[in-house]
Amino acid sequence: MSQPIRIAVLHFQHETVTFLRNDTTTDDFVYPGSPARGEALLASGPKSYMGGFVQVAREFDGVALVGIESPLWPKTGTGSGWLTQDAYETYVGRMIAQLTAEAPFDGVYLCVHGAMAARGIPRPEAELARRVRAVVGPRAFIAATFDPHGNEDEEFLRHADLAFCGKYFPHYDSHLQGQRAARMLIRAIKDQYKPAHATKKVPIISPTVVQWTGASPWMDLVQRALTWEAREPDVYVNVYFGFPWSDVPDAGMTIQVLTHQDAALAQHVADDMANFAWRQRDKLLHSTKVHTIPEGVALARQAVARGDTPVVLADHSDRSGYATWLLQEIVEQGLSNTLIATVADADVIKALNGAKMGDAFDMAVGGLVDESAGEKVRITGTVRHVIEHLGQLWVGVGFGNGNLLVLSPYLVQIMELTTLTEIGLDPTAFQVIAIKSRVHFRRGFDDSGFARTILLVEPTEPFLGTVRLDALDYRNVDLARFYPFGSPKF
Ligand SMILES: [Zn+2]
Repeated sequence: MSQPIRIAVLHFQHETVTFLRNDTTTDDFVYPGSPARGEALLASGPKSYMGGFVQVAREFDGVALVGIESPLWPKTGTGSGWLTQDAYETYVGRMIAQLTAEAPFDGVYLCVHGAMAARGIPRPEAELARRVRAVVGPRAFIAATFDPHGNEDEEFLRHADLAFCGKYFPHYDSHLQGQRAARMLIRAIKDQYKPAHATKKVPIISPTVVQWTGASPWMDLVQRALTWEAREPDVYVNVYFGFPWSDVPDAGMTIQVLTHQDAALAQHVADDMANFAWRQRDKLLHSTKVHTIPEGVALARQAVARGDTPVVLADHSDRSGYATWLLQEIVEQGLSNTLIATVADADVIKALNGAKMGDAFDMAVGGLVDESAGEKVRITGTVRHVIEHLGQLWVGVGFGNGNLLVLSPYLVQIMELTTLTEIGLDPTAFQVIAIKSRVHFRRGFDDSGFARTILLVEPTEPFLGTVRLDALDYRNVDLARFYPFGSPKF
């Protein structure tokens, strides 16, 4: 019997909106189920990167997976800012300590995101890989999976060997990329794949709302990557669209290509992909129409009048969850049969502890966490739903003509209809559904065939989540070096 292959599995993910005032703290990663280790870690995210990785790794004989204690996604979701240095050092410190204690390993799988931003650590994922490398040594292989919103440059693959990034937005292929990471990591360990790579930055920075891969030319970019992978065995193409709400030095679009020991081919494919993206730069920035909120709500009314329902009104710009601009406009324009899910307000949720169905409701909700969130909006109605969801209290308040406002303690992106049905709401009972999401919601509301009308909206003013990135106060990104804000040479 040959020795089993030992692979350590680590998870550390966040998509950090550094412009938010509330830091992501050590405590934000602590809740029932997180941190997770052993089988519990391996069983987290069964339909995502982790699940795909574990599934394929276990198809091989003689592979032992060691789940190193890791924090899962923080309870703030994407609604929190810079990771504190304490949060980063605490969790990475624990991971490295356990890794050291349980070494040696033949391989390591890092289940990361790519758009984490931590105070004092310019490239958190690359730094994690660097520290892992220092423990496992140069002979072990390190593979990672990334979200296409990752902000990456050459640094990560200086310390790691393999990276696999999801291609679609919404992220349909996370599980598939996890599978690939397992197969290629094990092949590398068995000396059957000798990874060579090329990384190329493309000076394009784009708001995530336009990065929907259901529309050209984002769709064409995906297709071009798939074509390269189809025509050349063992070529893997990563297109990082980038996440502009992380004010980090490696922001912007990045192409990364892996090959089997063929650095020239990797460079050739990376150049082709980057040149294609560059040629399409104008169209990439204008693939999705975004309306102002007053305009979008008016268009929703017209769609209802025509019978083009259900209508989805998606406020792509709310990064805290507290924004009330859309709620305010829905009230002002007198929309009826409208579900608003959700407006975040931790204080109101605290005050509603013990609320019962049928209670009268009269409170000012949301707003005020920063100027992007707008004013509080007073809602007078009746408590219709008291919901326990993921250990949090959510409350549904009926008001106006058949409207329902769902309040939650944190930002919520409703992506799937099942999220609504699981909390006892019937999405088919509403003519308009107003949510806080950019692209992810297309999974449940567009690509599922549910919505007849989809309207993306943002406030009239260029607040935090705006497509007008030049309104943001960047410290680590020079927008003049990126299309469409400067005239970079490429
Ligand atoms: Zn993403």
